[in-house]
Amino acid sequence: MIISRYRTYMVCLFVFALGTLALRAQSPITLDVDATQAPRRIIHTHMAIPVSPGPLTLYYPKWIPGEHAPDGPILNVTGLKFSGNGKTIPWRRDLVDMFTFHLDIPQGVSVLDVKFDYVEPTSTAGFTAGASATDNLVVISWNQNVLYPAGRRAQDIVLKASLKLPEGWKFGTALPVARREGNEIEFKPASLNRLVDSPVSASRFYRVVDVTPPGEPVHHEIDLAADSQAALKMSPELKQEYTNLVAETGKLFGARHYRDYHFLLTLSNYVAHFGLEHHESDDSRIGEFSLIDPRLRLNMATLLPHEFVHSWNGKFRRPKDLSPPYYEQPMKTDMLWVYEGLTQYLGGLLAERSGLWTPDDYRQSLASIAARLGPGRPGRTWRPLLDTAAAAQILYGAPGQWSNWRRGVDFYDEGLLVWLEVNSIIHRQTHGKKSLDDFCRLFYGGPNDGPQLMTYTFQDLVDALNQIAPYDWAGFLHKRLNSTSPEAPLGGIEGSGWKVVYTSVEPALLQSSEAVHDNIDETYSIGLQLKEDGTVQDSIVTLPAYQAGISPGMKVIAVNGRPFTPQVLRLALRAGTTSKEPLRLRVLNDGYYKTCSIDYHGGERFPHLVREAGRPDLLDEMLKPLAAQ
Ligand SMILES: [Zn+2]
Repeated sequence: MIISRYRTYMVCLFVFALGTLALRAQSPITLDVDATQAPRRIIHTHMAIPVSPGPLTLYYPKWIPGEHAPDGPILNVTGLKFSGNGKTIPWRRDLVDMFTFHLDIPQGVSVLDVKFDYVEPTSTAGFTAGASATDNLVVISWNQNVLYPAGRRAQDIVLKASLKLPEGWKFGTALPVARREGNEIEFKPASLNRLVDSPVSASRFYRVVDVTPPGEPVHHEIDLAADSQAALKMSPELKQEYTNLVAETGKLFGARHYRDYHFLLTLSNYVAHFGLEHHESDDSRIGEFSLIDPRLRLNMATLLPHEFVHSWNGKFRRPKDLSPPYYEQPMKTDMLWVYEGLTQYLGGLLAERSGLWTPDDYRQSLASIAARLGPGRPGRTWRPLLDTAAAAQILYGAPGQWSNWRRGVDFYDEGLLVWLEVNSIIHRQTHGKKSLDDFCRLFYGGPNDGPQLMTYTFQDLVDALNQIAPYDWAGFLHKRLNSTSPEAPLGGIEGSGWKVVYTSVEPALLQSSEAVHDNIDETYSIGLQLKEDGTVQDSIVTLPAYQAGISPGMKVIAVNGRPFTPQVLRLALRAGTTSKEPLRLRVLNDGYYKTCSIDYHGGERFPHLVREAGRPDLLDEMLKPLAAQ
């Protein structure tokens, strides 16, 4: 609304005016980070900020790029002390914003000394704010180790950063290095936004794998940091597939927008597991043996492709409202169905084109996405896709329990289905002459001037789509974004000549996911997702187990009179197809037992894609690699 926007604008102006009083504008800020105690999970920061006497406001980064939420780990900042000319300068925290600090710089002080520690959490929940250091490795996200002055855009604040690592550790980063002496690294001066966008991974066990395709002028490498030497082993086939990935992106986008690219891949069971995009690198963290265990490797096949795509879709091109000038200004996230949804679509596509997935893996993934989003998933009857994006900052932290009714960050997977449908519409409207690949070359092309940001709006997107194929794109997208239909948008799958069916055969991709998450997925039969110990993670509202009284948080302890194991439940479901007896689940709920009878005889059910007779196979065409391999 216009009124609230006007007010926001006024508040920003006010803060800008306050912040500039005590700041000497041009000189770079010095930032020295000491990570020598990383194995003990404590990182020391020392900053020297040029200042002038008077009031000064400093910020700790709050809205973290790529995490789309105000989740800067302010709670882990300890021992914060300010001084000038050797004398302590008092500080006070803002009473409204916990990430803001106010100081009064005394006369005669031209450099403010700042010291604080960042204490590394041990919890593996969350993103970069989760566990990031182990006995053997650390990932430095600079936003955790820096304060910055109010009043200037992040791109206008220049820092000279240095990093001290434990003896003998190696490191990788996209941040250009000025010099290195022993375990101390001095980086070339960089703007605050470039610094925050360039994490460093370091480890006792480190390996660099060059994945630059032949003839490609821009350097690409995978920087592996692990908890053991054994985990660093990467097969020649996998190396080739990642090299293919780089070649495929070159063909898909027709341009790159970075100086060189580092896949920072951390392999540990003791850090948070996620992938986070940056412009010239990613920060992906997975289980220690993910590269050498085939089941784990299958489950991570789309991780690096997804984060890599973000260099174009998310970093080079970003929705305007997701591009605030500094980290205290809130993001508006309603366009995440493009930022994340199109990335999800392209990540899967590139995984297949590169050989990380087979065509069958790709189709399995599509089938399970379509099935997971409905029918029978009631959340979509009240919360449209657009609201899952608008509410991203709260949904990222939502528990899995009740996620079928609450919905989660569905703008990833439902966004993928919408973009698949866009591809099939382009194909139809242009009689097979064009595809979403053409849109990618148009929207993400242009010269490589290094890591630049070009923001866009909904209208820019619609205009670009119209250049590829004239159509009522605004009408189509608004319909998909605001729908509360119980049906998932399957137009892209059906328009590509395929349909979703259910059989009793469990797909390999789901087996891999169950192995990684230690759970059992019976959501398409009785409607339960359970941990391996029987704890109910989710119970699909409207499906048989829910109707029999089973809710998330309860624990299944017996199946038809036998102690619960995943196998006992599966055998009972299969036996139920030829029996008239109901399935009896003994359940523990808050210290009380009860038995739930489920009159279900449909056996195990898993989604698959099968060909729709008489329609051309557009998926097959879409999945063909673009680069010679
Ligand atoms: Zn993403």
